[in-house]
Amino acid sequence: MTQTENKVVVFLGPPGAGKGTQAERLAAEQGLTKISTGDILRDHVKRDTELGQQVRPILDAGKLVPDDILLALIGDTLAGMQTVRVIFDGFPRTLPQAEGLDTLLEELGAPVNHVPLLEVPDELLIERIVERGRQAAARGESVRSDDTEPVARHRQEVYRVQTQPLIDHYAAGGNLYHVDGVGSMDEVYRRIVEGMK
Ligand code: ADP
Repeated sequence: MTQTENKVVVFLGPPGAGKGTQAERLAAEQGLTKISTGDILRDHVKRDTELGQQVRPILDAGKLVPDDILLALIGDTLAGMQTVRVIFDGFPRTLPQAEGLDTLLEELGAPVNHVPLLEVPDELLIERIVERGRQAAARGESVRSDDTEPVARHRQEVYRVQTQPLIDHYAAGGNLYHVDGVGSMDEVYRRIVEGMK
């Protein structure tokens, strides 16, 4: 059965917390479209589009791509959706992005429903990212150019400064809940789903 009820999930958490993997499973099990801005931007870089050429140095440095670019991308993605069933992974990352998203969603009559915040201690985050790079290399896969230790550390810093204010924004909306991100994939997944009830 196709699901006809709007559902919007905004997944928050620092780089390396495991958002991508959990968002993927949630999308599959709840009939949601996963919108991962990191994946979209990396795809542009890979295809060497005009946007890709513009953002490549920003991604490589672990800095944030300008808000207007992100909002245009998300506006295009949401445009024309009859039913809005989406999970955002890696977006919004700044307060202007969150406010821009609120406006877009308001126009569609589909407000944010759930905001899980995945929490993992800082020292584990860098370890996970560096390990992810190591495993990809061992499998002969390409390693993300920003998964080196210094750039990963910079991404954590950017998260603390730019993205943490979003916690207050969504807490004020009453949709935010904290999820302990330490444990097995299944345990963490159960906590995320449990928090939606
Ligand atoms: P991670 O969460 O591990 O840092 P992502 O795949 O979410 O990885 O993002 C990778 C990079 O893509 C970021 O460091 C940034 O350069 C860019 N990016 C992704 N999403 C956004 C966004 N919402 N705003 C600005 N830049 C973004």
